[in-house]
Amino acid sequence: MRNALPPIAVIGAGFSGTMAAIHLSRLMPERPVLLCEKSGAFARGLAYATGCSDHLLNVRATNMSAFPDLPDHFSRWLESCPLDSVALTRSTPAGLFAARGLYGRYLTELLLAALAEPGPAPHLMLEHDEVVDLAPEEEGFYLTLAAGRRRYVAGAILACGNLRAPGNPRSRYAVDPWNAEPLDDLRPDLPLLIVGTGLTMVDAVAALRQRGFAGPILAVSRRGLLPQVHAPTAPWTAPDVPAAARRSLVALLRCVRAEVRRAEAAGADWRSVIDSLRGASIELWRGLPLGEQHRFLRHLRAFWDVHRHRMAPPAAEIIARERIGGGLTVLRARVTGIEDRAGYALVTLRERGVAAPRVIEVQRIIDASGVGRVADTDDLLLRRLMARGLIRPDALGLGLAVSDNLAVLDQRGESGRRLWTLGPLLRGTMWECTAVPDIRGQAAELARTVVSRLRDASPCAARETA
Ligand SMILES: Cc1cc2nc3c(=O)[nH]c(=O)nc-3n(C[C@H](O)[C@H](O)[C@H](O)COP(=O)(O)OP(=O)(O)OC[C@H]3O[C@@H](n4cnc5c(N)ncnc54)[C@H](O)[C@@H]3O)c2cc1C
Repeated sequence: MRNALPPIAVIGAGFSGTMAAIHLSRLMPERPVLLCEKSGAFARGLAYATGCSDHLLNVRATNMSAFPDLPDHFSRWLESCPLDSVALTRSTPAGLFAARGLYGRYLTELLLAALAEPGPAPHLMLEHDEVVDLAPEEEGFYLTLAAGRRRYVAGAILACGNLRAPGNPRSRYAVDPWNAEPLDDLRPDLPLLIVGTGLTMVDAVAALRQRGFAGPILAVSRRGLLPQVHAPTAPWTAPDVPAAARRSLVALLRCVRAEVRRAEAAGADWRSVIDSLRGASIELWRGLPLGEQHRFLRHLRAFWDVHRHRMAPPAAEIIARERIGGGLTVLRARVTGIEDRAGYALVTLRERGVAAPRVIEVQRIIDASGVGRVADTDDLLLRRLMARGLIRPDALGLGLAVSDNLAVLDQRGESGRRLWTLGPLLRGTMWECTAVPDIRGQAAELARTVVSRLRDASPCAARETA
């Protein structure tokens, strides 16, 4: 790498990192882009690595283009797919829903096309390893990989995605919903417990049945709310929220409810109103005082999530069938105790409105209760960056604090270093930043920001790979 411009690193190759890297490599042919991924699978991430054909996108195919300026890009790609891929899509009155694994194939093809772009030198490079540290050096960083190698990079984008909640629940029978291996030896006679009743639970039930588990499944959450189902919608104009209502959660909720009533009176569906808020939600979120954001997380988040992130109709049918047939029981309950025994765990549940605790024997506990917080993360890179003072959690502790152009803020609140982020790590700052329709524009915009920052800077001395 002597005498070449040092690369810009993109850390994480899920949707966010893959798309940021593709945009960067197109916009900045003069500088290499180093896309690093620890899982072994590029262009998949947590969402699109699944091989379960019942794991469907929870967004219609028509809204899953990877490019903000080419809205029908994914739909056209689907049309060009061979017939065996079409079998991985489900056409419903609410629209077409593709398997998430198929979407992963779409992203992989986009990445392969970017890698094959002709040029004097390969400028998009893949690094199959975990990035475990970034040590500031002049304007850039020395990046350390888990295998111990170090190399100099001119800057970095943290696209590390959804944080997992570490070590929860504490039991040797606890299973990560995204790692199915410990589910190979299930018994048909003992129940399996899922903590959480959202989309991850829906996925877990579908995967368990597809793997042939025929035993009883119990899903619990404090409110016992299941995600709503997609239905046909029509475009609806987002409500004009008065300035006074923008600072109060109660007033905002009233405003949305009034809009839903107006929509229903006009023959439209509540889903159209919720969908219409997508474009406005970041501004609305950022306008809420911190106390109101906290109140939203405590009291409204669960309700918002089930209306905002809906099930594809075929996924809803699986859940309905399971509940009617008695295979799946959903309870409004909290787990108050877990005792590991030989071959099973004894779990104590406190059901809402029931005085006596319920004690059940379960063979596994799947934690589908949601994503983790930055302060509790066991992610090596984020912990090291925090220890170095290079990043800090946002005010709610859900993700990273950033400037308006997505440069991360350091412990002193400054954003001078060439370190940026996007995607789910912006959850606290933007709230709506976890799905493809939110992230695709962010990836394109961030690439433009990074390129203009790097081009504005004085040329950086080239360094050797250590
Ligand atoms: C199960 C599930 C289903 C979803 N379904 C949909 C859907 O249908 N439609 C939709 O629009 N959105 C969906 N989403 C939302 C999804 O989060 C976004 O669409 C998008 O995939 C987020 O991508 P990401 O790259 O930011 O994060 P992730 O997908 O989490 O990817 C982050 C990547 O970074 C890697 N990584 C992390 N740290 C390091 C490191 N230090 N070094 C190297 N690599 C690292 C990880 O291995 C991972 O591959 C779903 C999310 C989940 C979890």
